[in-house]
Amino acid sequence: MKKVGILGGTFDPPHNGHLLAAEQVRTALQLDEIWFLPAGMPPHKKSTATPAPMRLRMTELAIQSNCHFKVNGIELERSGPSYTIDTMKELKRNHPDSQFYFIIGADMIAYLPKWHKIDELSRLIEFAGVNRSGYSVETVYPVHLVNIPAFDISSTLVRKRIKEGMSVKYMVPDQVIQFIKEHQLYES
Ligand code: ATP
Ligand code: MG
Repeated sequence: MKKVGILGGTFDPPHNGHLLAAEQVRTALQLDEIWFLPAGMPPHKKSTATPAPMRLRMTELAIQSNCHFKVNGIELERSGPSYTIDTMKELKRNHPDSQFYFIIGADMIAYLPKWHKIDELSRLIEFAGVNRSGYSVETVYPVHLVNIPAFDISSTLVRKRIKEGMSVKYMVPDQVIQFIKEHQLYES
């Protein structure tokens, strides 16, 4: 069985916190690959989200330096928001030889019990949880906890800094910064 970590996110934009978490989980749990899954339009972020093709491109640029990282556009091919259960069922159908580990930051772990069809989902895949500064790690579901050097950064912070004209170098990969500049993202 191939062991594959899944990192779902809005990636608006992807940042080094995502990359750090993915690499630490990959090595700690001895996963073969990490697949980054940009979300379609998340219902709670709909109005402000950057168009999907741009988030997909930024994610491709972000992972370039790691040969174990891949981008998977499965959630962008569907219209509307995707439930993780539907995404994972489809991935399992298409990749029956893979065992999936869904990576979530501490902010998401707390909400696991509220996820759509969580019981069915937790029979289908494993969860890997990483700490995130400002959030405690508590869960009623079995989660492989991976302790990472917390990087206090979020896409929200990156967008805010760009809007205020502050540097995001070393927070976001250079190629992604380049893309953001070219397309004048997050400036207003
Ligand atoms: P936003 O501020 O727009 O919500 P975000 O930085 O939280 O963006 P998401 O795309 O929402 O990024 O997150 C995708 C996944 O990555 C989530 O499981 C989230 O918990 C995790 N994650 C994001 N940033 C970090 C970080 N700095 N450390 C650990 N995990 C993180
Ligand atoms: Mg988030």
